[in-house]
Amino acid sequence: MKKTIFGKTGLSVSRIAFGGIPIMRLSTPEAVRVVKEALDLGINFIDTATGYADSQVKIGEAISGLPRKGLVLASKSMANDKKTILEHIDNSLKQMKTAYLDIYQLHNVSSQEKFDAVFAKDGAFEGLMLAVKQGKIRFPGFSAHVMSFAVKMLKTDKFFSVQVPYNFIDRQAEAEVLPLAKKLNAGIIAMKPLGGGMLDDANLCFKFLFKDAGIIPDPGIEKPGQMKEIVSIFNKAESLTEAELAEIEKIKKETSGNWCHRCDYCQPCEQGIGISTVLLVRSFIKRMNAEKAIAMVNEVVQKVENCTGCGACKKRCPYGLDIPKLLKENRLVWKEYVKKTCGDRP
Ligand code: SF4
Ligand code: SF4
Repeated sequence: MKKTIFGKTGLSVSRIAFGGIPIMRLSTPEAVRVVKEALDLGINFIDTATGYADSQVKIGEAISGLPRKGLVLASKSMANDKKTILEHIDNSLKQMKTAYLDIYQLHNVSSQEKFDAVFAKDGAFEGLMLAVKQGKIRFPGFSAHVMSFAVKMLKTDKFFSVQVPYNFIDRQAEAEVLPLAKKLNAGIIAMKPLGGGMLDDANLCFKFLFKDAGIIPDPGIEKPGQMKEIVSIFNKAESLTEAELAEIEKIKKETSGNWCHRCDYCQPCEQGIGISTVLLVRSFIKRMNAEKAIAMVNEVVQKVENCTGCGACKKRCPYGLDIPKLLKENRLVWKEYVKKTCGDRP
């Protein structure tokens, strides 16, 4: 597998990273098998998060006994304060059975409130810097779903890597985030290369992403053979054909009325409904185990009952989504899922 230098970290990383979300759903032996298969294919970059249930433990199990040098390990924490992020970092080290992590990311800095909290006195950023000093992590990074905050974070010039959603439907990062990250020589991780599980055609998705050598896609892998397929798409090094470009356009048209980009421009909702979370329930269902999905989504979906249909959100959505209608549809999808998974009540 070809390697590239990951921005100003100077780390040599495979052109594809291993995303640690879906292994939450697997048994430990199955998870170890898919991680090892990726490593055997030459993938040396593994990205996970404190919030991904036991993903870190499974990765730790898979890499246990392997030479640490040459592996690039990344994790993230949603913590806002110094004390908690330091606890999370220690926990990541313990669970991943490593003395240091190469990259540690502030997870999803996508609001002013979060931005202010992490940079406050005794905030998470101070914790990150202390962990760097202590040799527990090498490079601070961040992830964000809202591009204006990814830009704001990059502009602080305190981070070595940025992780944002990027695929042939979610292309908001192209306007400012990608050019700025390249200018600052920050490493770029494309999260959701398969649209968070909503895009099925790996060939189209990865051919689109591989055309930019400065971007590392971070697919979540949960089945043996999946990473092999992606690596073989990479190795073919083919450009998108006219027919494939036409197929992308077709998918774009089909999804244009229901694809939520998680930009949260529709907020605030007077009823406190977490609109983007509800609109993405299919992705949560596809990628997470039931326990984690229910913990993250159930309460949020229940609030849809309070929607007054005021339409304020719909007016603000730059993608013209009919949010009240989509909320109802997704609530039904969720209810069916919960019923199938846990009977009438989670
Ligand atoms: S239509 Fe419903 S979801 Fe949208 S702002 Fe009004 S109450 Fe909130
Ligand atoms: S519903 Fe529209 S405005 Fe709200 S997060 Fe999704 S794409 Fe953005």
